[in-house]
Amino acid sequence: NEPLEVVDPEIAEVLKNELGRQRGTLEMIASENFVPRAVLESQGSVLTNKYAEGYPGRRYYGGCEFVDIAEELARERAKSLFGAAYANVQPHSGASANAAVLSAIAEPGDTILGLELAHGGHLTHGMKLNFSGKLYNVVHYGVDPETFLVDMEVVRQKALEHRPKVIIAGWSAYPRTLDFAAFREVADEVGATLWVDMAHFAGLVAAGLHPNPVPHAHVTSSTVHKTIGGPRSGFILTNDLEIYKRLNSNVFPGQQGGPLMHVIAAKATAFKLAATEEFAERQTRTLSGAKLLAEALTSDASKAAGVDVLTGGTDVHLVLADLRNSELDGQQAEDALHAVGITVNRNAVPFDPRPPMVTSGLRIGTPALATRGFGDTEFVQVAEIIAATLQQSGDVAALRAQVQDLAEAFPLYPGLENW
Ligand code: PLP
Repeated sequence: NEPLEVVDPEIAEVLKNELGRQRGTLEMIASENFVPRAVLESQGSVLTNKYAEGYPGRRYYGGCEFVDIAEELARERAKSLFGAAYANVQPHSGASANAAVLSAIAEPGDTILGLELAHGGHLTHGMKLNFSGKLYNVVHYGVDPETFLVDMEVVRQKALEHRPKVIIAGWSAYPRTLDFAAFREVADEVGATLWVDMAHFAGLVAAGLHPNPVPHAHVTSSTVHKTIGGPRSGFILTNDLEIYKRLNSNVFPGQQGGPLMHVIAAKATAFKLAATEEFAERQTRTLSGAKLLAEALTSDASKAAGVDVLTGGTDVHLVLADLRNSELDGQQAEDALHAVGITVNRNAVPFDPRPPMVTSGLRIGTPALATRGFGDTEFVQVAEIIAATLQQSGDVAALRAQVQDLAEAFPLYPGLENW
């Protein structure tokens, strides 16, 4: 029963340093967030000891009477949050949720149609080294070369041409909302199953600030750790009982063995919090912060420095900085922001002229800072720091000091020392 710092001081040091890093920098990776202390508690709890293969009330192990309650709560809360008839909350991650979805609605060799990775799609939507690209016949739609928007007429033409079994709507890097009703129309026209992957924007949906895909999609998958800000994991929703039954058997035993009951308990808490006013207010600040950032990166000064924003703005929690005309490539821009204490990731822009390891873009998200408490005043300051860095017009030490002040003004996990 010795504590970590006694049993394994090297790993204890990693935890301590990572907490320090999270506290001292501004986290703007669009897919990251800070979980509440309550979620850390479940994830570091005795529930990690429990095997619970199966589903509540139908387990292959004894002693599940308490973890059953956690999973039931997680399912019920997920259903009520998104207005779905059925939920599976067992996927260990977004990728394992997606693997279960595809195996439930398609057979190996079937054609699937999704957004191209280089245009903002996800690995699990048909990238050639991913299971999805290896098992299925993948066709892609891309964004329009002028507007950088998904054009539903192009989606429809691709669907008519390839007659996919599955159409995927969802993204990892796209700054606008998709028209889920139009996707469903196309799916119905060609007899495809519509799968929406709302991993990125699920928190906005929960807050009523983004269209809800659940009424339109045959099946909707998500992560819990991005805009929702819960534990690193996935879940799946559907209104169709037949699909639900296939999903259940494709999650367990299809893709996974024992569910992570400590994570499922933490999901239940995350879904409970996502139904509150405070959560909706945080998502409002998230959206507002992203818009303020887009404004700063489309100003005359930014444009003069070759910095712009794809689609000219954003409707979601992220901004895609377009550096095709900038002296800084994506890698250099990521490094320059890192030097002032802001963490982002470089991201290829569609039709990127630079190689994938370098890129001509950045994906910058506001969810983690909104969770930290940032509002418009702070987001304006952050936007100015980012703009000055990308325009190469500011003093790096002074910008780093401003970042430090902002980080200190919004302490992360106050009172937590050994997590
Ligand atoms: N789906 C989308 C759209 C994503 O952006 C991601 C993560 O980046 C995932 C699925 C996969 O989630 P995970 O990293 O938990 O496997």
